[in-house]
Amino acid sequence: MANILPTARYDKTMNDYIPYGKQDINQADIDAVVEVLCSDWITQGPTIERFEQAVAKYCDVKYAVAVSSATAALHIACLAANLGNGDILWTSPNTFVASANCGLYCGAKVDFVDIDPYTYNLGINELEQKLIAAKKQNCLPKVLVPVHFAGQSCEMEQIFSLSQEYGFKIVEDASHAIGGSYQKKSIGGCQFSNLAVFSFHPVKIITTGEGGMILTNQEELYQKLIRLRSHGITRNPDLMQGNYDEEWYYQQLELGFNYRMTDIQAALGASQMQRLDEFVSQRRFLAQRYHQLLQELPIVLPWQHPDTESSWHLYVIRLKLDKINQTHKKVFTKLRQAGIGVNLHYIPVHTQPYYQQLGFKAGDFIKSEQYYQEAISLPIYYSLTQEQQQKVVMTIQNILLGG
Ligand SMILES: *Cc1c(COP(=O)(O)O)cnc(C)c1O
Repeated sequence: MANILPTARYDKTMNDYIPYGKQDINQADIDAVVEVLCSDWITQGPTIERFEQAVAKYCDVKYAVAVSSATAALHIACLAANLGNGDILWTSPNTFVASANCGLYCGAKVDFVDIDPYTYNLGINELEQKLIAAKKQNCLPKVLVPVHFAGQSCEMEQIFSLSQEYGFKIVEDASHAIGGSYQKKSIGGCQFSNLAVFSFHPVKIITTGEGGMILTNQEELYQKLIRLRSHGITRNPDLMQGNYDEEWYYQQLELGFNYRMTDIQAALGASQMQRLDEFVSQRRFLAQRYHQLLQELPIVLPWQHPDTESSWHLYVIRLKLDKINQTHKKVFTKLRQAGIGVNLHYIPVHTQPYYQQLGFKAGDFIKSEQYYQEAISLPIYYSLTQEQQQKVVMTIQNILLGG
């Protein structure tokens, strides 16, 4: 189309543009990737195992399976949890579409649990009420996908206890949350879940370009995940049907995928793992600084549950629209025009056209919709300088107080 970009739009290629998030790649990361490129293995070789072990050790979990994305991770995690036709998956409406789509990939139905107004994670009271109603109507979920929004853990102990009572499995979508903790333990340890998933997309805490990982303490789930990652094939004679020990032989036992990560990506991931604590502590520092610099403004700052320590993937403010004489859209647009790459996490999934076709409608999950009308994600990432952060704060202040 010959349509010219609206003149109001800021040129994102300008080098003073401040995005909402971005990766940080140093020379050690580059060297690690080059080393693999010069080696004999560039896919699914020894570096994958090294990366998996580094993450498993960090999270204090038994098994880790690296895959091509968190979307792929969510898909095979749901399959490993035996989600299939006629089953039901529940997740939060305040998430990226992938947390819900994984249920549809498996032929299951998807439904949502509205959010807690303080943490913006799926609400425990909402979950309990919905479970009570679902039990009466005989439509309990088989899998629940709690999403650790912005890097802050959901209340996993309560969710786990409800899972015991109502018999559902838990797949944590921890895409935002590597490096965060819950009750002093690293997110990803699966203390209160069957499986947990990380994303290594460049805006997340550490990156592999594209990539994801599934964590579990259950050996059976682990065996299933490594098969599903690679076509449903095994080369382990103990798992084959019949007696075979020929060197060349393999069997396909189920329908799997090619969801493998390359060793090139895993080299980057393993190198980034060594920097994880530094990444997260810088994000915590920036979040604390935002709390201080923004506290007088007519906005709601992100509230933190005392059991959690966030990895601060996102820093979300909510506008107090009754205290300012501007619309949400206006504030957002003015920030973008000033070169501040604010974003909005998330458009409630059930309001997407695809989900509306499935029968959902605006008004179904009011708290997530209300939140969506007020939320703005501010820039937060490892290399964001204090001067840049100052510019973000001054710009917001001018917009909100200057009118
Ligand atoms: C980024 C993200 C995903 C998808 O991750 P990919 O690695 O890009 O597939 C899923 N869920 C949430 C909550 C995310 O933020």
